[in-house]
Amino acid sequence: MLLRRTAPTVFRCTASSRTTVTATSTSSKALAIDWAAVARETVVHLQRMIRIDTVNPPGNELAVGQYLESVLEAERIETHLFEPAQGRAALISRIAGDGTRRPVIIMAHMDVVGVERANWTVDPFGGEMAGGYLYGRGAIDDKGMLAVNLETMLLLKRHVVDVGGTLTRDVIFVANSDEEAGGEFGMGWLVNNHRELIDAEFVLNEGGRTRVVRDKPLYVAVQNTEKVPHNVTVTAHGPGGHAAVPLADNAVFRLGRALSAIGNYQEPVLLTPSTREFFGQLAKVWPDVSERRAMNDVASRERRRVLRGVRVLAATPVFNAVLRTGISATVVSGGIRSNVIPTEATALLNIRTLPGQSIDAVVTRLRRVINDSRVDVTITQRGEDAPASDFASPMFAAIAETVKELAPDMVTVPYMSTGATDSARLRQLGMQAYGLLPFPMDQEDEDRMHGNDERIPLASLDFGTRLIFGAVHRAAR
Ligand SMILES: [Zn+2]
Repeated sequence: MLLRRTAPTVFRCTASSRTTVTATSTSSKALAIDWAAVARETVVHLQRMIRIDTVNPPGNELAVGQYLESVLEAERIETHLFEPAQGRAALISRIAGDGTRRPVIIMAHMDVVGVERANWTVDPFGGEMAGGYLYGRGAIDDKGMLAVNLETMLLLKRHVVDVGGTLTRDVIFVANSDEEAGGEFGMGWLVNNHRELIDAEFVLNEGGRTRVVRDKPLYVAVQNTEKVPHNVTVTAHGPGGHAAVPLADNAVFRLGRALSAIGNYQEPVLLTPSTREFFGQLAKVWPDVSERRAMNDVASRERRRVLRGVRVLAATPVFNAVLRTGISATVVSGGIRSNVIPTEATALLNIRTLPGQSIDAVVTRLRRVINDSRVDVTITQRGEDAPASDFASPMFAAIAETVKELAPDMVTVPYMSTGATDSARLRQLGMQAYGLLPFPMDQEDEDRMHGNDERIPLASLDFGTRLIFGAVHRAAR
């Protein structure tokens, strides 16, 4: 496969390469940060971490943990490195604030998914740079965030603490393992073993998007809530017998009728405050005229307009998935051999409820839609709901203000992911978690996540560093 050496997307950034961030209220000294030097330093950290192979399984994140520990300790920042299992690691580092406000956590995972080496045009663990990009497995998921979070700690230490300034809250850096394979040795382990070290008001985690469309950076989508996954089994019953004597209430046919009814059914549209805000903000920058109008309609509170907007947006599967609870049929099974009519046939449905919606109520509606007493609908795996994080919180505002400062034409939107993330767990524990991917990228670059020739535009790495540092500093000054 040929490597496309397209020029990286250049976005307008109003902050000059040497910019001065306004002094904190607790410090009279201005922060004079040499952003060009910061960009070089961030690239080096990211390259070094990409060169440490942490494909999970087995993970071997300890080597990255030790690297992070050495960098943080050299800067005299408090760190704790744990080994949850052999070769795995959890690193927690903290810059103490004055305790006026509760801590903020910046979190990223050290493990990466595997590679199909034959499909890469560069060494996935080489940290090579070409055409304005840094290549390597983990460049955008999630070692880019690790590098940016690390740089944020270094900058806070050098430009706030070391010059006599104060933070109003602790800033806690968390690097964990095993995110790509269930989190048993990662988030799960941390929550079960060191809950006291990860107690915070706010958490910045992976899970958002910073999207470039037609070479123009449009928006930063900050994940503040997510759909809840459940598994439901549909079982049709009928009389068994020899296939030579057809039976009208054959369980396989019965299941087919039930699935056909479910396939023609859609859950009702439900607009949460987050969804309304999402479409309302997105409408300000969305390039397609008819979709932009539909977004404004959906965000309005006029019933007629909302319905009109929903009709347009629901035609696009990714928008439809945020407007309502989604039902996908995924596995069908039944029968043992070709000449036997089975007494049972089953289908699995993967159902993603909107936050706050009851899966029991969905199942009740499905039973009504199927309308057949010989078809059972049962919940086989129940997801756990978590409250949405507030998109009017000081942390969210700090992100949005930093985006405005860096790129005045971009908007910041709250975003509900249709997939499940670790952040749900943190929200259940009472923390306000926000998912970010602070690197402006077009769809093509974003699709390389978990794919071939994963890469990060260098300009985006720089933008991401300024965004995370800026937001954390704003929220903690
Ligand atoms: Zn990830």
